[in-house]
Amino acid sequence: MSEFPKSPLMGQMMNQPLLISSIIKHADRYYGSNEIVSRRVEGDIHRYTYRDCHKRSRQMANALASLGVKMGDRVATLAWNGYRHLELYYAISGSGAVMHTINPRLHPEQIAYIANHAEDQYLFFDLTFLPLVEAFAAHCKTVKGFIMMCDRDRMPAETKIPNLQCYEDLVASNSDQYEWPLFDENSASSLCYTSGTTGNPKGALYSHRSTVLHSYASAMPDALNVSARDSVLPVVPMFHVNAWGLPYSVPLTGAKMVFPGPALDGKSLFDLFEQEKVTFSAGVPTVWLGLLTYVGQNNLQFSSFKRTVIGGSACPPAMMKTFREKYNVEVVHAWGMTEMSPLGTTGTLQSHHLGLPPEQQTAVLEKQGHAIFGVDMKIVGDDGKELPWDGKTYGNLLVRGPWIISSYFKNEGGDVLEDGWFPTGDVATIDPDGYMQITDRSKDVIKSGGEWIGTIDLENIAMAHPLVQQAACIGVFHPKWDERPLLVVVKKPGAEVTKEELIQFYDGKIAKWWTPDDVTFVDALPIGATGKVLKNRIREQFKEYKLPTA
Ligand code: ADP
Repeated sequence: MSEFPKSPLMGQMMNQPLLISSIIKHADRYYGSNEIVSRRVEGDIHRYTYRDCHKRSRQMANALASLGVKMGDRVATLAWNGYRHLELYYAISGSGAVMHTINPRLHPEQIAYIANHAEDQYLFFDLTFLPLVEAFAAHCKTVKGFIMMCDRDRMPAETKIPNLQCYEDLVASNSDQYEWPLFDENSASSLCYTSGTTGNPKGALYSHRSTVLHSYASAMPDALNVSARDSVLPVVPMFHVNAWGLPYSVPLTGAKMVFPGPALDGKSLFDLFEQEKVTFSAGVPTVWLGLLTYVGQNNLQFSSFKRTVIGGSACPPAMMKTFREKYNVEVVHAWGMTEMSPLGTTGTLQSHHLGLPPEQQTAVLEKQGHAIFGVDMKIVGDDGKELPWDGKTYGNLLVRGPWIISSYFKNEGGDVLEDGWFPTGDVATIDPDGYMQITDRSKDVIKSGGEWIGTIDLENIAMAHPLVQQAACIGVFHPKWDERPLLVVVKKPGAEVTKEELIQFYDGKIAKWWTPDDVTFVDALPIGATGKVLKNRIREQFKEYKLPTA
């Protein structure tokens, strides 16, 4: 971490560290009776308040101390979005240990690799993951004990898992008398590994300071816009990038929290939205696809849902339009990454946009948005030279700020910064107002005859076709042009559409030479552990594909 010069005259404000524990203390004191509602793994609905959550977090903090967990120790979780997981977010980080959330959708071998790399001391897991933990527990070299997040009567009579304890026993046997310790705000608070689509996963190690600052900034009106009058349902999982910071920003603002547990299908989500009067939610496009299909097929309408943040991969404009026009739900397009805690940009209008015709407003909202305060962005060419903000020139997107990583955990990958900036691996344009638009991930860009074709645009056009459910575009070998676009399409259930119709659908919407050379139909696209379409898997599948133009 670089040091900055000190002024001869320093400010005279209190040097209070920014600590995660202060968030749950604030939520208890000022929003103590506001609710946290969880659909449990057990299937029932659990309700309690911020005051109860704080009390049980203190009990759990005492339990961790009794287990010998010390400051800086890593404690892992494999869990859905739920109240016990939230208690751990505060008990582990608040007591100075490091909350290490692991993605249960990873392969058992990958989970063991991550737990060993992190040197986790204990591992907490939800009931659902008992067979998964049994599959890898013996390979964890540093884990002293496993804790199942359930009541006593759910504990297995027999198990291969060594030193297995019950979460509720630990809570019940510990006092709620606990003073959250004060320590340096730059201390590590939580650890999240990137999904590692290339090479081994690498850890982003957040600090108390970075997390608290990210929570402040992400709650702002032109970011997530969360307030004490909201009812928030995070669909984004707490096991990946801290559910975009919502376990912190929601208690900070006092909003009601609604956790969906493992039930992420359209019907379960819709029922919970309605029962708990959810006003705001956040998730990746693939999850919304399921919800919108269910709501559409059953002719339903949301009664309280007003706004959703969509990010993690590009939100197809057709999805935004459906939310807005059919359901009166505002979509805020957001962009970020694990290495950025994750929020970088959000797309909202400014007063000077309000007089524009609707289609121009829509064009602004379809971009990934402008940086939230705290994030600095620039685009550069391959020579590292900064490129203009004209909305047309695209280049490699670099970022910096207090919640953006300076290096990976244990310095994996060595120096990652370029002159103090973090290279995101995304290719983007930035317009004169600072609105950024991702054209592609640099590894997904199609290189055709020395020119670049961004695949996001091609996919968005295909997904605007009324008979297309999902689409992915990849580059496949072409003897003359090196690569040309192949469109891989999942049709809507029962729909019939031909390759020729889809290719024709591009007419007038895009430069002619960007049009896909061919279309192929599949039953489903491969989806990765974080809900994104796995382009590398599709490329692998079609690597021998012969284009008709080749
Ligand atoms: P991973 O672990 O796969 O890197 P992240 O969740 O950190 O997962 O993914 C970050 C990447 O996701 C970004 O670099 C970008 O390529 C993509 N991404 C995130 N949000 C958007 C968005 N709104 N539009 C397009 N791409 C996005």
